Amino acid sequence: MTRLSKSRIMSSLQCHKRVHLEINQPYLARYSRSTEAAFALGHEVGDIAVQLYGGDSGSFIAYSRGSLKRAMNQTQELMTSLFRTPIFEATLQHDGVLVREDVLLPVEDDGHVSWRIVEVKASTKVKPEHVHDCAVQAWVHLESGHPLTSISLAHIDNQFVYPGGGDYDGLLVEEDLTEQVLDLLPAVPVWVEEARDAASGPLPKVPVGQQCTSPYECPFLHFCWPSKEDGTEYPIIGLGGGRKKLGVWVMDGYRDIRDVPAAEITAETQLRIHRVTIDGAPELLPGARDFADSLAYPRFYLDFETIGPPVPIWPGTRPYQVLPIQWSVHIERAPDDMEHAEFLDLSGEPPMRDLAEAMIEALENDGPVLMYTSYERNVIRGLAGMFPDLAGALQAIEARLVDLHPPTKAYYYHPDMMGSWSIKAVLPTIAADMDYAGLDGIQEGTEASAAYLEAIDPKTPAERKKVIRRDLLTYCKHDTEAMVRLLRFFSDSA
Ligand code: SF4
Repeated sequence: MTRLSKSRIMSSLQCHKRVHLEINQPYLARYSRSTEAAFALGHEVGDIAVQLYGGDSGSFIAYSRGSLKRAMNQTQELMTSLFRTPIFEATLQHDGVLVREDVLLPVEDDGHVSWRIVEVKASTKVKPEHVHDCAVQAWVHLESGHPLTSISLAHIDNQFVYPGGGDYDGLLVEEDLTEQVLDLLPAVPVWVEEARDAASGPLPKVPVGQQCTSPYECPFLHFCWPSKEDGTEYPIIGLGGGRKKLGVWVMDGYRDIRDVPAAEITAETQLRIHRVTIDGAPELLPGARDFADSLAYPRFYLDFETIGPPVPIWPGTRPYQVLPIQWSVHIERAPDDMEHAEFLDLSGEPPMRDLAEAMIEALENDGPVLMYTSYERNVIRGLAGMFPDLAGALQAIEARLVDLHPPTKAYYYHPDMMGSWSIKAVLPTIAADMDYAGLDGIQEGTEASAAYLEAIDPKTPAERKKVIRRDLLTYCKHDTEAMVRLLRFFSDSA
């Protein structure tokens, strides 16, 4: 029998019956960094759910590779015992479909026992795919012979303010999905059958399109879409824009950006990417130099690293609130006269106040404060909201901010940027020695957040903390140095 997990069913449905059984391992490896970080954060929400739904009196069904039968037997024993208690990660299977129910609560009524399922998500609202997810769970639950009273989804309330002391009462809000799930129940066996057909049949022929990235990015993206791995030099995905239109071009047989006839492109940015890619040489317009020359000295290059954990860790903060934990500033007093300042506190205490005060001092009173995209502006505004007594000084800094992203987008494009003006895409084209891929430790923002959370965990050994400190400082400094190099590149242009 084909064993189908809930997620496999869902992914095959997103693809309209297309399921690939051969997994391209190198492809998966590329994604492991961010997936690990996401799991670590999501996992914490699960811990809080256990705490809120009676963890002390409940049972958690552990499951690891090879222990499926044990997990199912344990679930069965707990569900049929005389003293029923909350069960976490109850493991049930029907017709080859395996589900793990996040929270299963017994409901006793007149001597009869039924169950209430609560699916826990780290999102801040119910999404359509969650309802499908719950329908599959309810179907397996009922078909396994267990009565069901209701099924709901518990998600994060983003207005929750953590009072401290481990009190997370109110972090999760429940929405009853029973009615919607009951409406979908008759469709579930059809989905299962379709998924099974797709899994056991030949590779289905389905057009690529929007479903490849929404609601989730499909793990087979680089398999179905033209990519560098299959020898396409400038895969069509680099034209940017909606996947729907790009998908139509792929289905028309165009693989490389240069394959698409210009007459079929209407969007201005796509036309520019197309033209520069066909020319095969970067485009650097005179406005870049004019922009660089217009900036006075001293110039300050600012970058923050932040965290936004779904489960707040400091009193007074909200779920997913963006909290700065580190900054780097390069200070250019005159051409070739560069200094560097930085802030990082790994004590585990809320660093925001000290961080803000140190930054106000480092940025002095005059001179443009350069950033890349408006992220830094939002962080500074957030700090001003947190510390009203510093708001004046922070607003003065905000007035000096200059975003390097718009002029970069307006005046520069290199075919290797593949439709992206992110600093990570731009940098290797202007300073090959500074490619983020060359950094030993942290290479992206989500890794920096996860590393910070690991470093402030009291269980993290001192040696590991030392490595994280070094990696975080290197990464953040790299970000501001990248801006220095970019502006220098503009200044040096003819
Ligand atoms: S990349 Fe798109 S077409 Fe390919 S399997 Fe995924 S959803 Fe289906």
